[in-house]
Amino acid sequence: MRMPSLSHSDQISIADKARQARSVVGENLTPAERRSLRQQAGDLLSREDAVLVAHYYVDSELQELAEETGGCVADSLEMARFGLSHPASTVIVAGVRFMGETAKILSPEKQVLVVEPQAECSLDLGCPPAAFGAFCDQHPERTVVVYANTSAEVKARADWVVTSSIAVDLVADLAAKDKKMIWAPDRYLGDYVKRQTGADLLLWDGSCIVHEEFKGEVLSNLKQQHPQAKVLVHPESPASVIELADVVGSTSQLILAAQQLDSSYFIVATEEGILHKMRQSAPKKTFVAAPTAGEGATCISCAHCPWMKMNDLQRLIAVLQSKDTEVVIDEEIRIRAAMPIQRMVEYGRQSA
Ligand code: SF4
Repeated sequence: MRMPSLSHSDQISIADKARQARSVVGENLTPAERRSLRQQAGDLLSREDAVLVAHYYVDSELQELAEETGGCVADSLEMARFGLSHPASTVIVAGVRFMGETAKILSPEKQVLVVEPQAECSLDLGCPPAAFGAFCDQHPERTVVVYANTSAEVKARADWVVTSSIAVDLVADLAAKDKKMIWAPDRYLGDYVKRQTGADLLLWDGSCIVHEEFKGEVLSNLKQQHPQAKVLVHPESPASVIELADVVGSTSQLILAAQQLDSSYFIVATEEGILHKMRQSAPKKTFVAAPTAGEGATCISCAHCPWMKMNDLQRLIAVLQSKDTEVVIDEEIRIRAAMPIQRMVEYGRQSA
């Protein structure tokens, strides 16, 4: 059982937003200009008592700056955890909007800024709080499990928030307690979790515009050309791509697999920004992005998240100077959204 598909106009509006985002990605800079901007950004972070937390999918320059200045590069949950534990009074998030919100939910006393407030996520956009709330109201007997890629309002409606690293384990545990569940928003990840656990999941019909573009048939051809290759796949990808994986996992799990697996060639089905961290952590290995071409390809994304790529050095500097992108969340919603997140953090701690 699955909820009715997003309307055609909703799907077009998400694709249009993605195209608009891509059209404003930063201009070309000379190496000298980049060095100067990086220096300026580092000085401002220090002067403003701010720490930069960056997602694996943002530009490599921001990832390096975050690490050089004492911040972190991580997945969305770890970004929020890091912001909470770091002593800086300001946390600046290089990623997309829901990541800024998650950081603020966990660190309400801190000033949380996002590098680019227009940076969205198709999963978040595809799960409007009012429609999702109405859907939950129709199924009051079901436990509501939502993925981290959702707004604060949607998290506030959830019993559990999960990341891809714990989704299978948590859903299996809930199913063992005879819980029936609503899963939102990613239908591919939900389908994967359902197949892995056999749980009774009612799936919301969202998708990531980057991962759903990976193509199983073309990946299979590429694998045949490189029989020694290992295939690393994020479970937001279609089932035909997941079937070809040697490892299916979250961003952090895929980076670990790239380090640990005994192969020198990897085909990677997730946003291409992750290749920077993989090459850093396993410099002698070769990493290539999985193909997005082939039948049915629209290539809105091409393994490239247009919203993640809106984050750049110039915007970071502008935000550190103006502080005009502060994340503000209604306190009642924040408190409700914090509960399922804290539950997830506690679950992760117990199962670690
Ligand atoms: S890569 Fe996909 S899931 Fe991640 S922020 Fe972009 S649209 Fe959202």
